[in-house]
Amino acid sequence: MKTQFDIIIVGAGHVGLIAALASAQAGFDVALIDRADIKAPREDSRASTLAASSVAMLKNLGLWDALSGAVQPVHDMMIGEGRVGDISPLSLHFNGQNRDTPMAHMVENEILRRACVDAVYSKSSITILTEASVTDFDNGADTATVTLDSGAVLRAPLIVAADGRNSAMRRFAAIPAPRRDYDQSAIVFNISHSVPHGGVAHQLFLTGGPFAILPMVNNTACIVWSDKTRAVDAALALPPPAFKAEVMRRMGDVLGEIEITTTPYSYPLTLQLAEQYTQGRLALIGDAAHVILPLAGQGLNMGLRDAAALIDVITTARGSGLDIGGAILAEYGQWRRFDNNSLATMTDALNLLFSNPVAPLRHLRRLGLAAVDSLPMVGAFFVSEAAGETGERASLMR
Ligand SMILES: Cc1cc2nc3c(=O)[nH]c(=O)nc-3n(C[C@H](O)[C@H](O)[C@H](O)COP(=O)(O)OP(=O)(O)OC[C@H]3O[C@@H](n4cnc5c(N)ncnc54)[C@H](O)[C@@H]3O)c2cc1C
Repeated sequence: MKTQFDIIIVGAGHVGLIAALASAQAGFDVALIDRADIKAPREDSRASTLAASSVAMLKNLGLWDALSGAVQPVHDMMIGEGRVGDISPLSLHFNGQNRDTPMAHMVENEILRRACVDAVYSKSSITILTEASVTDFDNGADTATVTLDSGAVLRAPLIVAADGRNSAMRRFAAIPAPRRDYDQSAIVFNISHSVPHGGVAHQLFLTGGPFAILPMVNNTACIVWSDKTRAVDAALALPPPAFKAEVMRRMGDVLGEIEITTTPYSYPLTLQLAEQYTQGRLALIGDAAHVILPLAGQGLNMGLRDAAALIDVITTARGSGLDIGGAILAEYGQWRRFDNNSLATMTDALNLLFSNPVAPLRHLRRLGLAAVDSLPMVGAFFVSEAAGETGERASLMR
């Protein structure tokens, strides 16, 4: 078995898979390791909002055509706030229809993942090792090695940790990643509805947490209902008709009659930010580096920006004859940590502000929304963030 590579990527979730494709396209020889069988379907009811920069990356990697017919353009976003059954008429309206391109696209996570899995298996420069766990990691001065549970020892100048929020690689490197549990969870499921969504997303800030209605293909929508974990557990225990009634109480008749078409799953919400993105020959990307609230739909987009930035940094290093796992990795950390931490702070602050029932705060929020509505520049900033247009763009995202 081949044991020497340019890059070893641990974790083949969306971010690891796309990082492997980007590395292979840049001419690197890659090993991609996952503890699960990546060809097996995953129980993931979620859909992802793909920012324009992520769409550009998927196009540059030749993945976009494989998603044809499965991506829904998002042209506009409505934002409201209030109590369940009493949404404030004061709402923000980001009119994306004035833009040349949609502000974002929605795609089911499993459809995107399957397209990525097919693509990695078609690349001869990607060696895939699934149902394989890393049992040891040596971050050596000249090369790094990972030992697998099979006993195999793989070497590379650069190891990329894309192994998710509980990253074993981050733990091997003893990189601190303080975590805050919000005591909130998100219930995610799909609905069909009688009134066409028109490509409009809705984000309703309710007192328990945000309730998002995300337009999907074939006139369906993905619901992300965030609430206190106790309320989420209680909702999931309801019989289907009572669960549907609770959903309708929150979304009103914005999409007419609805039917729940997929099994609702819940996901705990946390904030977790690694204190360093690199250490020696190790670089963290995706949820291994940062987990934020899903209210701006940015977690995956941030991970893809990490991967694209890392490829830029190491491609430049290789062009100058430098070690791709050497001191230059610090550039990657500097590039991405500021962007990711800013978004984490923004989503955390919005959640704190809106998930609070205290009356003066509600009044302030309404003032805040009105202020944003009347300030086109601030509104434009929010739209740019959703479109992934802020910060320095890596080559693959142009
Ligand atoms: C409710 C909800 C809605 C969301 N909506 C959006 C959205 O609209 N837009 C968006 O951009 N983001 C969204 N996100 C965030 C997004 O889903 C995540 O940021 C993204 O999936 C992280 O991908 P990843 O590849 O980094 O990690 P993961 O998907 O967790 O993948 C990690 C991979 O590593 C493997 N692994 C783990 N440990 C090991 C090990 N020890 N050895 C080998 N392999 C290992 C796992 O099997 C897995 O394949 C949402 C999140 C939630 C909770």
